[in-house]
Amino acid sequence: MPEMPEIQAHAERLTDAFAGRVLRRFAPFNFTALKTAVPAPDTAYGHELVEVGRRGKYLLVQFAPTTFVVHLMQGGRLLVDDKHSAKPRGGQARFEFEPAARSDGSTDTSALLLTEQGKERRAGVWCVPTDDVMTAPPLDHLGPEAATITDDQLAELFRANSMRIHGFLRDQRMVAGIGRRLANEVCHRARLSPFANTRKLGADGATTVGAAIRSCIAESLEIERARDDMSSSKDRPSAMHSRTGEPCPDCGDTVRAVEYSGYTVNYCPTCQTGGKVLADNTTSKFLK
Ligand SMILES: [Zn+2]
Repeated sequence: MPEMPEIQAHAERLTDAFAGRVLRRFAPFNFTALKTAVPAPDTAYGHELVEVGRRGKYLLVQFAPTTFVVHLMQGGRLLVDDKHSAKPRGGQARFEFEPAARSDGSTDTSALLLTEQGKERRAGVWCVPTDDVMTAPPLDHLGPEAATITDDQLAELFRANSMRIHGFLRDQRMVAGIGRRLANEVCHRARLSPFANTRKLGADGATTVGAAIRSCIAESLEIERARDDMSSSKDRPSAMHSRTGEPCPDCGDTVRAVEYSGYTVNYCPTCQTGGKVLADNTTSKFLK
């Protein structure tokens, strides 16, 4: 799933391509794409796109009165669409804009197309009054942004929430923008067991985790900003994530996995757990 660096760089690209374009129509292709009834999408018709912003893992397609909050989930993409096909593959919804003159004299008729491959249909769009967008669903439950959370904020959250650090990092109510890949990478960079308890980590642990979050995000963001379109998961940097059985780039030990139904925790025993291999009942049951 795209995380903060992928979403942020994509938002910047879309702002470059679409800011100032006047919305003509928002057209969902199926009834599950639009998650809200009020305000209606037509409240934004005739308005210029201010920017495509981001909060957590959400894209914010912002017009003065109304903002379309877009969540891509696993397989969703928000793409520049020049074809305007009647039934685009995986099409969920399309933002249609008034044609606009380009500086070279040609006419820009491109649209923005939300697609989602696969059958799950979990990507979605929420229409929210722009003035309330940060305090209304679906953004109202989000914790501080991962890239700018302070060590003091982290320490306070660690004090108030006794959790495994890997779960804490993936919980959008705690820190917004981190998913499975970055959680694996941050734990490794911080030299912490993914199962370390946040309350026990304390203020010193918060400082270590804060530094690891910032450096992992900065690294991914730089790579992502150099691209023309959003990376797929295999293009994203990882020392641990999806590296089960490969050598740790820092120490050469074998990257281990703890499997859950929805995701895999990857870690290096030498770097993170004092050499201890964490119990993995699921793997031992199904893979032996
Ligand atoms: Zn290692």
